[in-house]
Amino acid sequence: ALPAEAFRAAVDQADLAISITDPQANILFANDAFMRITGYAPAEIIGRNESVLSNHTTPQALYQSMWTALSAQRPWSGRLLNRRKDGALYLADLTITPLLDARGVTTHYLGMHRDVTELH
Ligand code: FAD
Repeated sequence: ALPAEAFRAAVDQADLAISITDPQANILFANDAFMRITGYAPAEIIGRNESVLSNHTTPQALYQSMWTALSAQRPWSGRLLNRRKDGALYLADLTITPLLDARGVTTHYLGMHRDVTELH
């Protein structure tokens, strides 16, 4: 069986920005690639809402379709214009997956994104 440390190493070292939030999208964990892509240090980003990454130009309708899916416990994928700590904009290809406990209650969200600015 794969040891728990290997799971942890995979999340820490994945070349994909990974974050885990509470049900209100407040960030509880973010991996190294998340720090690299967003430009935030762990102490600056833990406890903040994922909306800190928003450039506030994405149409509300897109966030509404996101939250409609997430509230129904369905994963959501899409592209958002994000803003790094230094103000630089990038196109994020993002998938959010609701994490459920044994009783089927959403306890966390898993966010995974890549910077696809160059690919656009
Ligand atoms: P909000 O105040 O968030 O409201 C936007 C709409 O979403 C409203 O219709 C509101 O009712 C609805 N909504 C907000 N929170 C909830 C909730 N907890 N339950 C049900 N409905 C809700 N946004 C980005 O711009 N970039 C990202 O990279 C990004 N990554 C995310 C990763 C994860 C794991 C999660 C869970 C969310 C992520 N978001 C991201 C979405 C982010 O949390 C905000 O909803 C979004 O940025 C809009 O912020 P806002 O302050 O403009 O509006």
